[in-house]
Amino acid sequence: MLFKEITGQYELKRQLIQTVTDKRISHAQLFVGSEGSGNLALAIAYAQYICCQNKQDGDSCGHCKSCIKFQKLVHPDLHFAFPVNTIKNSKQKRDEITSDSFIAEWRKLLTGFPYLSEQNWYEYLGIENKQGNIGKSDAEAIQQKMIFKPFEAEYKFMIIWLPERMNTTAANKLLKLIEEPPANTLFLLASKNIDQIIKTILSRTQLIRVPSVDTQSMQKMLAEKYDLSPNETQVLTRLAAGDVLAAIKIYERHEAEQDFFDNFKLMMRFAYAQKFVELLNWVEEIVKLGREQQKSFLHFCQQMIRETFIMNMQIQNISYLTDREQDFAQKLSQFITPKNVESIYAALNLAASHIEHNGNQKIIFSDLAIKFAELLIKT
Ligand SMILES: [Zn+2]
Repeated sequence: MLFKEITGQYELKRQLIQTVTDKRISHAQLFVGSEGSGNLALAIAYAQYICCQNKQDGDSCGHCKSCIKFQKLVHPDLHFAFPVNTIKNSKQKRDEITSDSFIAEWRKLLTGFPYLSEQNWYEYLGIENKQGNIGKSDAEAIQQKMIFKPFEAEYKFMIIWLPERMNTTAANKLLKLIEEPPANTLFLLASKNIDQIIKTILSRTQLIRVPSVDTQSMQKMLAEKYDLSPNETQVLTRLAAGDVLAAIKIYERHEAEQDFFDNFKLMMRFAYAQKFVELLNWVEEIVKLGREQQKSFLHFCQQMIRETFIMNMQIQNISYLTDREQDFAQKLSQFITPKNVESIYAALNLAASHIEHNGNQKIIFSDLAIKFAELLIKT
């Protein structure tokens, strides 16, 4: 992983490079930051940089023998430990697996994109209902790997992702190793929640705070990745609050909600214009969605109403992502007032509850549409 593949974090990258130049690399370092700050990616890029045979312009070369292996995460001196658990329908016991059991999945996810969230990891492995952990078997595997000298590089690396998921047994096994690693061994830990790390582990590492991604870098990354207007890029940057994964999640959820937005718009237009035939035709379309989709749609409507109302109250900082949503909300905002907002909300809640309890969808949405027609005209 190259430093330049990681969004922003220029000052931290500079500091890391400086430790290599000055030959003062600490043997156990803890990179703490949000999942989308790039903390894990920075640890990997740092290891690659240390080993690169042709360092240049503040980054690894990406082409030397070492870099090629690092790019695929297959360098023999690069080791990983991360939370795992038994997968669904597997007969294996937890102690029979280690991080290595999932190393292929790990490489596949991380070589495609340098950011990874804990939730995505568990979903990918198929253990989403259980939390992963770093347990006894993993600690023993780490001990085993650290016995040998580096094979090819000057250093060998143990990168531990989410040390906060390490249980006490594992932590106790690793304490001494982390405190006094064998020669030329580096422990790089990447955590999102320092408060949950076992204290004895924490006290043996050097803390590196990975800050939120700066606004400019985030905007640049989003502008390159997505087809957004400058205003949309700005809004998305603000909502993401310096977290690359949050930005992607918001964008993807938003894309998925485009149909919801179109349906919401139709319903509001027909209701306001008292076009009952069109409203009932609209209901025919909505009932074709599954119940889960209908619930999500009702939730989406509540969110739109809430934010439109906020707009009406002239409170700044609303979170519409796209310009067309903002335009529509602007027009709609004059119809959502303190007089009707509660009733609109209640109508949506009632509909959601009836859908949940398997009520007749056609009746539920017809009632809702008629209620909206009534509530919008009264204002
Ligand atoms: Zn290189």
